[in-house]
Parts: sequence; structure tokens; C-alpha cells
Amino acid sequence: MNLVSLLRLLPLILSPSLLYPVESRGGEKDPLLHPLSGLAHHTYVRTGKRLLEEQSQKRVDLAKGYMSNSDLEKAMKDFTQRCGNISRMYRIGKSVKGVPLWVIEISDNPGKEEAEPAFKYIGNVHGDEPVGRELLMRLANWICDNYPKDPLAELIVDKVHLHILPSMNPDGFSLRKRGNANDIDLNRDFPDQFFSVNNEMGRRQPETRAIMNWLRDIRFTASASLHGGALVANYPWDGTEDRRRSYFPCPDDETFRFMASIYSRSHHNMSLSKEFEGGITNGAAWYPIYGAMQDWNYIHADCFELTLEVSDNKWPPANELPTIWEHNRKSMLNLISSVAKTGIHGKIFSSETGRPLPGSVMIKGINHTVKAGRAFADYHRLLAPAEKYEVMATMTGYKSKTTIIRLEAGPMALDFILDPEVSNGEHRLESVCDCSCTTGGSGLEVMGFLWNSHLEVYFVLVIVLAFVCILLLRKRARLSFLRHSRQQGGGPKRAVVA
Ligand SMILES: [Zn+2]
Repeated sequence: MNLVSLLRLLPLILSPSLLYPVESRGGEKDPLLHPLSGLAHHTYVRTGKRLLEEQSQKRVDLAKGYMSNSDLEKAMKDFTQRCGNISRMYRIGKSVKGVPLWVIEISDNPGKEEAEPAFKYIGNVHGDEPVGRELLMRLANWICDNYPKDPLAELIVDKVHLHILPSMNPDGFSLRKRGNANDIDLNRDFPDQFFSVNNEMGRRQPETRAIMNWLRDIRFTASASLHGGALVANYPWDGTEDRRRSYFPCPDDETFRFMASIYSRSHHNMSLSKEFEGGITNGAAWYPIYGAMQDWNYIHADCFELTLEVSDNKWPPANELPTIWEHNRKSMLNLISSVAKTGIHGKIFSSETGRPLPGSVMIKGINHTVKAGRAFADYHRLLAPAEKYEVMATMTGYKSKTTIIRLEAGPMALDFILDPEVSNGEHRLESVCDCSCTTGGSGLEVMGFLWNSHLEVYFVLVIVLAFVCILLLRKRARLSFLRHSRQQGGGPKRAVVA
């Protein structure tokens, strides 16, 4: 770059529209966010510097060495053929231009519902941030190559259902731009809790609709989307109520900080960031955005999602991909395995029938409920380790149960057996009482005499019988619950709140 072209670029560098933080998560400038709202000087310099680099690379095809959309589809098909015993491929929808949105599922029982947490990775949300799609294919291949000899690969395949969507925005990728083919930023296209830009489902982009329908089909415990343009693990909330830039914690702030730190601390240098303490940031503290995918995941789909910025350069030369992969590999693996290696996991059962109950689990002081699955009533509640949590299981028609736990760094198995609000035994007692109240007609004088003279004895007998019945029913329910637990591979040590 010579001096003349440098001078030509000077007005561009100083233009207010460029004086924003890196564009990875945001980008479409928020008109209410002041350009100078507390941004460090080095951010402007860095953004300007990047522009110069981008200008000088203009004639070079950035996609050289990257997989095209058809290369990616072929790589995914090859993968599911090569690793067919632990994977399957399925489609969640199509882009505006009709490109299929393919997903790979990796599990020892792909496509089968199990009492295990599910995790998803989404790459290439922004078309011009293609590093994620490359990393995700490397991740899938690494797991397949190292299963079962590597303990992390083994844990992920055997205890988690991992779903990978390498490209959410294949049209943006082929057009080399951020938005989709309709020029919509997909990370602003989800319903928002504060300022919904477009809340009509009909206006939503097909890529966004595909994600929303996907989350109706699969109960994900946690997830992350991969972006580029910075190096940080970003967690909810992404937006603030008053649109001002400030730390805006969600109810699970502690949990999210814990999760984001798992990623940043396992990374080559993310946690050493000078810009973000510990390599993590609350989205709104960085810069607020609305209609983002991660907030919607947490609010509407019960899924703890992070937004990961995995490389400072949005579109680095392809020969840098092996290094970026090495820098992110442990983080990507550790984040997936954290859904099985941390938090509370268990099932909810009925004391009366022993059947699984699709109830909910709540933690005192955290305004966020986690639902149990319909098939196995399994729940997976991510939490940061702590001295004390008060955990409550609830189900309509059943009495809630609460227990106090201490959560270590590892996972905790905690099952609940809930009693119905009105048990069968109580029903029987009521019916006996009803009956006694209506007896005493003229034709039943002898019975009436016996009843009245021995009322106390009968009453005690009925109570004893009802008690024995309840005990027998409970024993049967527990036996059936234990059998069920063993069948589901619940492990030998499980705390049960009965
Ligand atoms: Zn992005």
C-alpha cells in the first residue's frame, strides 16, 4: 500500500460509521447507540487497520481454500458415510435461494431420543464469517477419529447428543456478505424481549424460521454460535431495556459466566484478552443488539446459548485455519462436554405409578425454569458450582419437593419422586366417609346399630388398610423407578428426593 492510497482511505478510516466495535456480533449500526459510547481508542485503530488490510486484499479471492457450499454438503455426506455408526445427517430447512440447511448429529444412538443432554453448534450465521463452518467440520472429524480412545470424544458420543449446523447462512457465504440473500442480518431476526423489530412470523427469514422450528423438535440444553471479528465468549443478555450500553445480567448470569469461562480458559489465548476481562463479556455491556439468537434460545427454548467470537480476523487466509482450529479445539470440546460434566441431572417420577413426569426444576433465587423431557422426564440443569442451591421439582397435580444441595465442579445426579396432590388412598377414605354419612335407612337398622356401636373400630381398621395400600403402592413405584433408572444407565450413585 503506497502513501497515495493510504491518504485516499483516510476519510473512510475517520468516518463515524466505522467508529464502532468489531462487527462480528453486531455490525448493522444501532442508530441509538452513540458512536463514541465508551469505546476504547484501540478499537477504532484496530477497525481502521483492518479496513486497510481488507482493501489491500480486495483483488484476492478470500474464499480460496475454503469449502464452497457444495463442497461443504459433500464433506458432510462423506462424514456420515465414514462415521455412520455414530452420526446421521438431516435437514432443518432451506435458505432464501433454496440451499439446504444440513445438520450432522453425533451420538452413539443418532436420531434416537435418550435421557441425555443435547448440544448444538451453529456456524456461519453471518455470511462473511466463514471460520465457524470450517472449524465445525474439523470438530466432527476429530470426534470421529478419536472415538472411543479419547475420553472427551467418548463422553461426547456416549453421553451427549451433539448437533452441528456448519452454515446457517449459505447464501450470505456465496455472496461474500454478512446478511442473507434478502440482506437481513440473521442475528437480528429473532423475536426480542424488549424491542421486537419484526414479530410477525410471516416476515421472518427462512433461515431463522428453520432454527425456531428445530428448537421445537429438539430439546437442547446448551449451544453456541460461531462468529468472527473478535476473540471473546459473549453471553446474555444481548440487549438492554433502555437501549443503553451497560451490563445487563440475565437470571442465570452466574451460570453463563461459568460456561463462557469454560470456553475462554480452554482457548489458546482468549482469556488473556486486554479488551475483555477473562475473555468473556455480557452482550449488552459490549454493545446492545436486539433480535439476537442467544437471548431467544434462553427465553423461549430453555437452551443456554453463547455467541463465540473465535478469530480476530473475520475472513482469514485459509492457511491460518489449522492454527485457529488448534486454538479453539479444546474450548469447543470442553464446552460440549460441560453439559454432561457439570450441573444437576436427573428424572422426575410419580410415587403412585412410577411413571416419568414431564415436570420442571427450579432453583431458588434464579427466575428460570428448566423443563423435563416428555419421554424420560430427564432434566439437565446447568449451574455454576456453589456451596448451596435449593432445588425444587414441580408438576401440575403433584406436590412439589425441595432439597438443598452443594454443587461441586462435577455433575450431580438428582432424581425426584413426587406424590399426587390427592392420592388414591385419600380417595378411598373420602368414599368410605360419604358412604357412612348416607347409611341409616329403616331397612338397615341392624347394620346401623353395628356401625354406630363400633364406629371407632371400623374407622381405625379403614385407616390401617389405607395405610398398608399406600405403602405397597409406593414400594411398587420405587421398584419400577429403580428398574427404569438402571435401564437408562443412570449410574450407581444417584441422590433421590422421595
Ligand atoms: Zn457474526
